[in-house]
Amino acid sequence: MPATWKRLSRALLSALLVLVFASCKKEPEVKYVFYLIGDGMGINHVFGAQEYNRATGTGPQVINFTRFPVHNFITTPSSSSLITDSAAGGTALSSGIKTYNSAVGVDADTVAVTSLTDWAAAAGYGTGLCTNVGLNHATPACFMAHTPKRKNYKEIALQYLTAPVDFAGAAGVIRRDKRTRKRLPDTAFLEKAREAGISVFRGPSFEGLAETEGRVLCLSGKDEIELPYAIDRKEDDTRLCDFVRAGIDYLYSRFGRKGFFFMIEGGKIDYAGHGDDMAACIQEVNDFAYAIDLVLDFWKAHPDETLIVITADHETGGLMLGSGDYKMDPERLMNQKMSKLALTEQFRNTFYVEGEAQAAPSWQQVRDFFRKHLGLWDKVEVSAEAEAGLRAVYDRTVSHGWDLSDENLYSEYSALVVEAVDILTRAAGYQWSYESHSGSPVGLYVQGKCWERFATVQDNTEIAPLIAELAGYQR
Ligand SMILES: [Zn+2]
Repeated sequence: MPATWKRLSRALLSALLVLVFASCKKEPEVKYVFYLIGDGMGINHVFGAQEYNRATGTGPQVINFTRFPVHNFITTPSSSSLITDSAAGGTALSSGIKTYNSAVGVDADTVAVTSLTDWAAAAGYGTGLCTNVGLNHATPACFMAHTPKRKNYKEIALQYLTAPVDFAGAAGVIRRDKRTRKRLPDTAFLEKAREAGISVFRGPSFEGLAETEGRVLCLSGKDEIELPYAIDRKEDDTRLCDFVRAGIDYLYSRFGRKGFFFMIEGGKIDYAGHGDDMAACIQEVNDFAYAIDLVLDFWKAHPDETLIVITADHETGGLMLGSGDYKMDPERLMNQKMSKLALTEQFRNTFYVEGEAQAAPSWQQVRDFFRKHLGLWDKVEVSAEAEAGLRAVYDRTVSHGWDLSDENLYSEYSALVVEAVDILTRAAGYQWSYESHSGSPVGLYVQGKCWERFATVQDNTEIAPLIAELAGYQR
């Protein structure tokens, strides 16, 4: 080979190497990041929903993310317990830092830590957060606020006003009533948001959003702190999908050139888990999957630039598939047509009249109620043992002046409804262990650009730094 050729090919090769190196160095591999968190979504919540869908021919026959190329397990302990709460779990997922239960965006010494939202914004990316529960509830809070206690709702909401969050979507803003300690919608906060220069829109249509510049806050069309359960949804209710669609449109139209980070929480899977409410839980998982369908549509249009990471902060309820006799009959759950919460309301409306002295309904009336609303005895056989259990709760309720309720973290149920729903749930082959979180590992499902990098992730703290690395965020 002549010397000139040799020189030329050597020059070409080195130019090529420089080019390859420069392109690796300069441009981050991922432009659009979707980070989806199913709060309390254990593996059995996902497969339990899928089994129900298949048995009944309703809903997604395959839960989309179970087919992602990465479907892995991650561990979720906090620094204070093997069993994390959503605050410590959220901080691990948002910042990669282990902290104690109840800590929002602070480390184990209560020192504030930065999160993916900060890192993305620092690198010039658009940022979005959305949830079907409160804006200042633990999971979204971990992506925008810093406080030693998750119950500091007011402080978290105020920190949102100055947080680098371009798009926020949530059912509402939570405040705690000083007298009753109940959590209520903070309607006065909307004015504070407007004063801070944030445009506020109401669902489900968020009219005017497309023409708006600057920071936006999209809330449900009703004054509420969580969207209704999907199983109870009415025509005019806002859905998680409405927030996701609005968020994608908003972020892509304003930050399409540079890229964006979008965290989406399915927050009510956890509520259904705390309520041991399988029928409601299934529709929450399905609703989360529908939101993911929208994200998958975006990925299909931008396959080389989009990363989708789906996981959970912890498992809720200690959910088991099977109730001891080697079979499941998920279709029996079709007899429960509303959430336990709505059924409790129905129960109260049937048997309690406001302002009147209450005479307890007869055992026969109670049986008729559950026959009608859960199909017990009629469509689902009730064993003598299960019936005796329900009867015992009835007797206890009557002897307590006919007003025994069963309170859990987010809801107050009638004790009779709790027992009756439990009979149906077990008959369908599902079983809850308790009404709180467990330490079970949860799923990690990854699709899109650089998915293979997540195949070795083992703990909830490893996700945020890896996303930051792939998307070129500034930590
Ligand atoms: Zn929870």
